[in-house]
Amino acid sequence: MKEVILCKYGEVVLKGANRSDFEAKMLKDLRNRAKHIGNYNIFYSQSTVFIEPMDEDAIDTIDDMTEQAKHVFGFVGVTRAAACEKNMDTILRVVKEYIPSRLTGYKSFKAEAKRSDKRFPLSSPEISGEVGAAVLEATNGRVKVDLYNPDIVVRVEVRDREAYIHAGQERGAGGIPYGSSGRGLLLLSGGIDSPVAGFMMAKRGVQLEAIHFESFPYTSERAKEKVLELAKILTDYTSKIRVHIISLTHIQEMIRDNCDEDYFTLLLRRYMMALSVRLAHDYDCDAIITGESLGQVASQTMKAINVTNAMSDIPVYRPLIGMDKDEIVQISRRIGTYETSVLPYEDCCTVFTPRHPRTRPELEKVLAEENKLDFKALCDEAYATRQTVTLKAFDA
Ligand code: ATP
Ligand code: MG
Repeated sequence: MKEVILCKYGEVVLKGANRSDFEAKMLKDLRNRAKHIGNYNIFYSQSTVFIEPMDEDAIDTIDDMTEQAKHVFGFVGVTRAAACEKNMDTILRVVKEYIPSRLTGYKSFKAEAKRSDKRFPLSSPEISGEVGAAVLEATNGRVKVDLYNPDIVVRVEVRDREAYIHAGQERGAGGIPYGSSGRGLLLLSGGIDSPVAGFMMAKRGVQLEAIHFESFPYTSERAKEKVLELAKILTDYTSKIRVHIISLTHIQEMIRDNCDEDYFTLLLRRYMMALSVRLAHDYDCDAIITGESLGQVASQTMKAINVTNAMSDIPVYRPLIGMDKDEIVQISRRIGTYETSVLPYEDCCTVFTPRHPRTRPELEKVLAEENKLDFKALCDEAYATRQTVTLKAFDA
């Protein structure tokens, strides 16, 4: 029996004239991943991508390939399926052989057939009926039929080339293909929010470039490593990410020594924004991405966000702006960044924090504080400290 992986399109099916560009990106992403896993034939037909193992080694690594497929944006569902010849005797034989082990732990099922080959002699309801009976027979009544609220659906798809039999489709990464929307610069800290923000925009096709600000020795080497580890986890989805690291040490000391304490965080965030905008222009990014959520902390009130936003001449995407912390945590657990994010290391934003941060800052007062320093010279100096680290999914 031949087993394949089926990847089901999400909203890519709604695309018009440029649908083939989207499909080509998804296929390329899968093929690049497959290079590291085994020899697979990958092709698309009728809104599904098929991944067929081409040798024994590929059959052995099909679990890994399935995991990879679940990280490719553009697919809403990924499922393993038995592929067989398109005749009813063969289909029923394969159902009996392949399906029982897939129903372990389930109490009820329903069979559903889809026939895109209209020359097939049986109608979809007829196929479903026969398949349901075959499942009941093969499981000795261990699972019951429930047409309205089944625990699992057994599906038979009679397509152009072959018939495919499967049960228990897994969730795909969703979204639209990685890189189909352009490039964005993610402000990546070591917290829970910013990796989730990066994931959300990557899911909408934004190719990520990342920037991280450190403040050594007030922040440690371990804090930086944690951020690189988070970027590495994001490469499960993006395959590769470049992280630019800029030191804010001198800027923070200058702010501490010369400015009103209540404005420390806001001033720092304006420097961060200015440096991010410069990097975004130098690396062809059309937007900046942050993990801000309205009202989460003093620097994320509407007025405070306006003060930092004023530094940018390109859009700032804040995909978490309307989300609660528990909703953000849920996503971070699902994408695998949570455990690393909660490791206790300091961030430059938590160095020299004011006791009474302004939650309703006036831009004029902020500018008055900012003008006590040579903003441009400090930015030039910090920008020159930048180092770039490239992380790749398949590096050890
Ligand atoms: P996170 O949002 O990642 O959990 P946080 O909750 O501590 O961190 P803030 O410190 O308020 O959030 O920062 C808000 C946003 O600013 C972050 O989501 C991130 O996009 C950006 N940011 C904060 N600190 C840094 C940093 N050291 N380097 C790069 N970006 C940062
Ligand atoms: Mg946050």
